[in-house]
Amino acid sequence: MNSDADALRTVKDADRKHVFHSWSAQELIDPLAVAGAEGSYFWDYEGNRYLDFSSALVYTNIGYQHPKVAAAIAEQAGKLCTVAPGFAVDVRSEAARLIAERTPGDLDKIFFTNAGAEAVENAVRMARLHTGRPKVMSAYRSYHGATTTAINLTGDARRFGNDTATAGVVHFWGPFPYRSPFYAGSEAEECERALRHLEDTVVFEGPQSIAAIILETVGGAPGVLVPPAGYLAGVREICDRHGIVFILDEVMVGFGRTGKWFAAENWDVTPDLLCFAKGVTSGYVPLGGVAISSAIAETFARRPYPGGLTYSGHVLACAAAVATIGVMAEEGVVEQSARTGAELLGPGLRALAERHPSVGEVRGLGTFWALELVRDAGTREPLVPYNASGAENAPMAAFGAALKKGGLWPLLAGNRIHVAPPCNISAEDVAKGLEILDGALAVTDAHM
Ligand code: PMP
Repeated sequence: MNSDADALRTVKDADRKHVFHSWSAQELIDPLAVAGAEGSYFWDYEGNRYLDFSSALVYTNIGYQHPKVAAAIAEQAGKLCTVAPGFAVDVRSEAARLIAERTPGDLDKIFFTNAGAEAVENAVRMARLHTGRPKVMSAYRSYHGATTTAINLTGDARRFGNDTATAGVVHFWGPFPYRSPFYAGSEAEECERALRHLEDTVVFEGPQSIAAIILETVGGAPGVLVPPAGYLAGVREICDRHGIVFILDEVMVGFGRTGKWFAAENWDVTPDLLCFAKGVTSGYVPLGGVAISSAIAETFARRPYPGGLTYSGHVLACAAAVATIGVMAEEGVVEQSARTGAELLGPGLRALAERHPSVGEVRGLGTFWALELVRDAGTREPLVPYNASGAENAPMAAFGAALKKGGLWPLLAGNRIHVAPPCNISAEDVAKGLEILDGALAVTDAHM
């Protein structure tokens, strides 16, 4: 037996015995064993290379193993691996400055966390303390993380197994022209009705009881839901009128994903709190955080903030953030993401939709796209029902298998494929990915 096969067996055996995996029935999964990764690719122990159109979980914005970031982490590890969060330390100050300079408006103070859900938890806590109000509103079509408050704010089906009815969460419908709950004809009308629905929900809940409205700037996990023009500005206006804190969750879309440093820039809105994670370090070391407006920072200027994390602003993570932001700036990764969307991914995916009847809609921007797969383009009946599993989900499973066989690692969610390669993917790899997709869409077309 060769050493690769030995290594594979060792990894798989220990994984099966001792690793408890997220979101899974432990005995029903068979995870791929990954041997290495570089740029837009990773590979297994059997020599299969995959073009990663999922960017891990939409976080390797500069691809795998960027040498400058790997070197910066190693150099920091040689100097100082860690120091308690209460101290001022050069890389932490520098990471905060670089982030604050890129966030919109007066979001100039950064509270560091280890991940996205913790950012959401802390943003909600800040909003409740700032307003003295208990409730938080979020969209049904949303994902905000898997800790207790974040999963209850989450609108999608992952909430179901966790639905402990955390007091004070109120869900509402955001705009979604393709599958509108408002039956509107145009995007402008959809936007207007969604804003009216939100306003009514606020009024009927009692504005004096609502601390915050939290939104993903572009809904990520729920399907790359690009807000219609005017929606985010309208939510900002509702928040201002009722003294509600506006939280934008940019955990998935921050740091170049939509062709801007932060997605809010696309619509010229400034929230009161902005959550980030993922792309800030391209995931090389876990880091997240909340960017805080001056008004909310002022609340905690002379009153202690009752929250903290042992690893808040971890030194290695901050070194990774400084290096990642440096690479993104030097190599024009944000601009590249915008160009790739406008010139390659957008036109390429729309061309696939013309050839394949099972593609009901293409939507996205930058390096963040989704295809809605349908059984009937007229009725828009989804290829698989909401929250499908097992046999019901077979058409999507077969599609995923065809993509993997072609060498593309997909991000599939419900009846959609999300297309989220690294923000710095090459034109050649975009073309290759589109070709693999083209071939695999024959599988979904067969269900029409
Ligand atoms: N918010 C959004 C918008 C996300 O996409 C995610 C993760 N996919 C989270 C929060 C939670 O982040 P984490 O898994 O790092 O806690």
